[in-house]
Amino acid sequence: MVIIVFIVIGLCVFAYKEQAKYFFLFAVIGIGTAFGEWLTILIPAKKQTIRRIIQASVGGMLFIGLSLYGGVNFQFTQIVFGCFYGVVTGALIQFIIARIALPFFIGNYFCSRACWDGAIFELVQDKIPKPKHPRKRNEVIAYSYLIGLILIGTIVSSINNPAINEHASRYWIVGENLVLLTLGIGLSGFWGSRIYCRTFCPFISVSGLFSKFSVFKITPVNSINCTACGKCNNACPMLVNIRESVKNNKRINSKSCIVCEHCVDACPEKCLKLSPDLPWK
Ligand code: SF4
Ligand code: SF4
Ligand code: SF4
Repeated sequence: MVIIVFIVIGLCVFAYKEQAKYFFLFAVIGIGTAFGEWLTILIPAKKQTIRRIIQASVGGMLFIGLSLYGGVNFQFTQIVFGCFYGVVTGALIQFIIARIALPFFIGNYFCSRACWDGAIFELVQDKIPKPKHPRKRNEVIAYSYLIGLILIGTIVSSINNPAINEHASRYWIVGENLVLLTLGIGLSGFWGSRIYCRTFCPFISVSGLFSKFSVFKITPVNSINCTACGKCNNACPMLVNIRESVKNNKRINSKSCIVCEHCVDACPEKCLKLSPDLPWK
């Protein structure tokens, strides 16, 4: 499935950029990711290390290879720039496949396996002391930020649209990533790990809506053994209340879940598993 997803993205970017190297790049990313996932099944004790290697490699290739070198902007504002210019951009293709189609299969998988900003947040999250009262996701802030980005994109499109100006596009790639990394890392000391992901990111605001209907979700498998120790909740970077779901024998339906499986690994009673089931369960 992972290979198919990346090959489809590769074909779309190939059609858009008319350069075969993009198809091969995505095919390699897909095969590498699938191999990494297979390794996590083979060596479960190293699951988190392998996942972080997958995320750093895929995110690094997308950001350094495609964004900085290839000039393909994947940031949210680029979707707005493309719409105003009337072109299909890499950002729109990535948005439709990774943030709308993929979540019906495996939720916000992109966030824990491919996002380069997420890879940096993961690197720093263990080094920043946990605040006493981390901030929960706030829908008003999340959707205001998304609307704000659409407004900024609209204004910029009418002045000097980066969808047709490669120099402007590169400034946006570097500038927007710097802003969101500064916001995410700067606030995490006060509001907790992955604060940008939980409260601001426009991508998860959209993909989270569909991830509720995902085939694969974190699922309680041994609820009866749960001792309510709370280790799963403590391990979750997105502040999902996993313990409550296990208590009610319900799958994790939170739109914030990024399928990182930290909760699965933290549970001493092996009460949790990433498994498939009917999407509405
Ligand atoms: S929520 Fe946004 S910034 Fe965070 S990992 Fe997902 S896509 Fe990246
Ligand atoms: S720790 Fe579990 S519930 Fe929290 S984001 Fe990761 S997979 Fe989802
Ligand atoms: S870590 Fe396991 S045993 Fe502890 S509360 Fe979570 S599900 Fe229950």
